[in-house]
Amino acid sequence: MRLSKSFVPTLKEVPNDAVVASHVYMLRAGMIRMLSAGIYSFLPLGYRVIKKVSQIIREEMDAIGGQEFHLPGLNPREIWEESNRVEAFGDTMFHVKNRDYILAPTHEEIMTFHARNVLKSYKDLPQIWYQIQTKFRNEARPRSGVIRGRQFLMKDSYSFDATWQELDKSYKLHDEAYRKIFDRCDLKYFVVGASSGAMGGTGSEEFMVKSDAGEDTVAHCDKCGYAANVEVAQSKIQQKNRAEKSLDLKEISTPNVKSIDELCAFLKIDETECAKSRVYINDDKPVLILMCGNDEVNETKLEKVLGGKIRPAHTDELKEITGADAGSIGPINFRGRIIADNRLHDANNLYSGANKNDFHIGGIDLKRDVKNLEYADLRIVRSGESCPTCGGKLEVFSAIELGHIFKLGTKYSDSMGANFLDESGKENPIIMGSYGIGVERVMACYIEQHHDDNGIVWDKTLAPFQISLISLNMKKQEVIDASEKIYSDLTASGLEVLFDDRVDAQAGFKFKDADLLGMPIQIIVGDKKLKENKVEVKIRKTNERFDSNLSELSGKVTEILNR
Ligand code: ATP
Ligand code: MG
Repeated sequence: MRLSKSFVPTLKEVPNDAVVASHVYMLRAGMIRMLSAGIYSFLPLGYRVIKKVSQIIREEMDAIGGQEFHLPGLNPREIWEESNRVEAFGDTMFHVKNRDYILAPTHEEIMTFHARNVLKSYKDLPQIWYQIQTKFRNEARPRSGVIRGRQFLMKDSYSFDATWQELDKSYKLHDEAYRKIFDRCDLKYFVVGASSGAMGGTGSEEFMVKSDAGEDTVAHCDKCGYAANVEVAQSKIQQKNRAEKSLDLKEISTPNVKSIDELCAFLKIDETECAKSRVYINDDKPVLILMCGNDEVNETKLEKVLGGKIRPAHTDELKEITGADAGSIGPINFRGRIIADNRLHDANNLYSGANKNDFHIGGIDLKRDVKNLEYADLRIVRSGESCPTCGGKLEVFSAIELGHIFKLGTKYSDSMGANFLDESGKENPIIMGSYGIGVERVMACYIEQHHDDNGIVWDKTLAPFQISLISLNMKKQEVIDASEKIYSDLTASGLEVLFDDRVDAQAGFKFKDADLLGMPIQIIVGDKKLKENKVEVKIRKTNERFDSNLSELSGKVTEILNR
């Protein structure tokens, strides 16, 4: 492709609204432009990458027996009423104004619609159906460029099986295909068991990449691969040891002491000697939560323990319930349910609030002094704590979901009546799985992981072109002739070449653009080197440069690309 005749509108400056690297570079490299919040146009260079990602996905889906569909994005609403998902999606679903149609945010219903009409016997199963197609979601906060869009491409596949064992097989096939896809795209990813947070076989797993643009927070162990959303993550952390001798309760005046840090400084004690109190309202009843030192309450875990709805008590409620303000609250004489984090199990000689402003109580023995105390894992894990499975070091960071595999079971076949006859002639619901990959997210996450200060660093697999051919002087006939010959020779040998044949662009400008666009190899044609029949070759990733004879150029370039 000739740059002089192409639409590749590169930008020198970082666009105002772009923060994350992939968004910045996709805009600066002229790959995308925003049409409206969360809605992007892919320009020619960007769309080449989308096609390459799609092709890799397609090959791996075909390899597990997937059959490619192309379903409509415009759907009659009534099909979505069958599974009750118009309500479930709520505001996230786009509705068409003048018709009873919706714009599909995913395609479980439509696939199930087709399945129920044709998959009638166990002999028709198993099936894997997929498509790579546009989805519409009215995301409340579209952000980070194409990472969270209101219209995006998804590879979505659906498995249809006769038994749960067969579903396990379809699920495993997808798991393996996803690993191949992300490996081929050179992405560093990890897998999170979405529902339980435990490693291995849950009903649903998410493929994630570490990124500042991510909206999920996960705990990950590099050593064994343990990964869990912080909402459910655990760590191996030292319990508070029980001292041999329990001290007596004693009230201590602690003027203006509100936080655990202030209490520790005031009494010259360690934070692990303190039981921090938090009051939550659970279905109108107060519950006191005790945490060790500065540990934070994990509200997802707490909600699971308590069941029903929870919320932190308001300031005025605190006073009414305990007689004190936050900072002076504690378990002694608290009327209501008390749950302590496992770390405090049977701990003694603790300090906590006295339920009286500006007073704390020391010598608390949870076993002796707090009746009906319950224990649970309630803390938020922190970076640096030990991995619950291997003892390695956990890291807590933000991450983006690239893909998701999910054992649906009979949710849709039940609600939509997709049944088949088994070997004994009995009617059963088809057992389904659904599996998604965000195509633009794959591209964006690749850029997140492969860029430097000058631009994108493509590997040959996803690069829009393998080679940037830079002609330094399109006014000198010998440079034009040599560049044109290289361009036609390399193109003829099957390589994809982006030919910077712009006449008026300065050399420095062309170099900057080539680095920004990030093709793996740059070939620089200038009159000085041409006199010796040579051109300069630069490898974008390593910045390595060398001269090549014209006659050896094609062989050298191919060798580097195949390395
Ligand atoms: P998220 O939690 O990030 O919103 P999700 O759980 O809604 O993702 P799924 O419904 O499982 O996502 O969709 C499958 C895949 O589609 C996701 O793994 C992700 O890669 C992609 N995807 C989902 N929402 C968007 C979006 N708004 N923009 C771009 N890609 C998306
Ligand atoms: Mg979502």
